Amino acid sequence: MGAAATNDDEEFEFGVDTTSTKKARTSSSQGAPSTSTTNAGNKSSPADASVVFSPELLAMYYSRLFPYHMLYSWLSYDPATAKPGNNAKAGSSLGSACTFPRREFSMTIEPQPGNEVYIRYQSFLSQDELMEAIQKRRPVKIDIGAVFNYPPKDNKSLPSGKLQTQERELVFDIDLTDYDDVRNCGCSGAKICGKCWKFMGMAIKVMDEGLRKDFGFKNLAWFYSGRRGVHCWVCDESARKLSNDARSAVASYFEVDLGSEKNKNFHITSPVHPTLSRAYRVLEPEFVKDVLPEEGHGIMSSRKMWTKLLTTLPESCMSVADKLDKKWQKENSTPREKWVELKKGIMTLIGKTGHAKAQKNLSNSERVKIEHWPMETVFRYTYPRLDINVSKMQNHLLKSPFCVHPKTGRVCVPIEVDSADCFDPFAVPTLAQLMTELDDYEAENGKDESIEDWQKTSLKGPFENFQKKFLKPLLDEERRILRERREMSIASW
Ligand SMILES: [Zn+2]
Repeated sequence: MGAAATNDDEEFEFGVDTTSTKKARTSSSQGAPSTSTTNAGNKSSPADASVVFSPELLAMYYSRLFPYHMLYSWLSYDPATAKPGNNAKAGSSLGSACTFPRREFSMTIEPQPGNEVYIRYQSFLSQDELMEAIQKRRPVKIDIGAVFNYPPKDNKSLPSGKLQTQERELVFDIDLTDYDDVRNCGCSGAKICGKCWKFMGMAIKVMDEGLRKDFGFKNLAWFYSGRRGVHCWVCDESARKLSNDARSAVASYFEVDLGSEKNKNFHITSPVHPTLSRAYRVLEPEFVKDVLPEEGHGIMSSRKMWTKLLTTLPESCMSVADKLDKKWQKENSTPREKWVELKKGIMTLIGKTGHAKAQKNLSNSERVKIEHWPMETVFRYTYPRLDINVSKMQNHLLKSPFCVHPKTGRVCVPIEVDSADCFDPFAVPTLAQLMTELDDYEAENGKDESIEDWQKTSLKGPFENFQKKFLKPLLDEERRILRERREMSIASW
């Protein structure tokens, strides 16, 4: 059981939606009018627009909007599932490579308000079976685990130890709570705002590039966790087959010890690893744009703030710091200009810029400290902070994409990497919004059954992007692999 936890469901608050969310859960679970529970799935608009999540809204989401086929097709890794019609009853023509029936799902259900029950080792032979179970149980949360050697639902009938994990996507969990010590926007815990959310965009860029360039992975999907973080699913066959040790190694590769409030002595060693140099090239411009200024985290926006930053410079830079402090008090330069000036000032000390010769009395280690200070500073704020335990084990469960977060009512939508820095978690639709969108669409266009219901809502953009940019290339790749294997087996026959 212990492995189930993603820590995205703890208490705390989500930006401005807090009170309405809490109210929503209370009112829907205690005082819901009896009529609204009977016609879930048909009646859409909630009576109270501030209700973002309720059992009725969730039932509606599961019956009309949840993209069962996308999830099924993805987790099957079988090109035969690409067409929505092929949703495989048990024993269909799908190849034995189809991993779906051996995939563990877990569900958190709430049979009575406030009484959560957690069920592990669920598995389903087909998309229809999955859909029936979800619609019947209406889980407040669905987690996805590993692919086992047997269908995990047979767990109890198998001899102990017989059920073993075989594969699992390599997953990453990045959560804003791990950024509390650098969030100067006033947020902490589960509270987030547009300013601190920028850290997530930066983390996505660095991780996505690192996983592609350093490990050669191609099939990566990013999702909003529904509240205060993001998840990455690396789905290449080589990633799915990684052992637990190899997973730990990949995750550790991305881990940088950023020091702590008490121990600020985190130092990058020389020569700088190419992956860190690349991360710096990605992160420094974002740091200058979104962390330094007042409208970001303000770390160079006032004398009080820049003084704090200047004290983190190596001892030998104090003369530079004093000079700049005096200069900055007299002029009205921007945080960006100050950052450039500061870097130039300290690089001059070690002869790395301008015409100045390096100071002779500096030790080698002092020189290295000065040289790396800008990178260390940028990383301390912006380098991805991974919840590494999520990545280490094949059988660690992670919240299913396309779920709805019960505290926010928001859908765990796919995030497009190219525009990750523009992704706005507050613009992700809540269940209540989605129902209104469906009603509006039907008021205007009638009941159009030629398209999926999610295509009538603002889920259309992110879902279609996911299909086009992730799912199709993934299944094309699986098709190519299958063909190659078939040709090889014919050749050797
Ligand atoms: Zn914030």
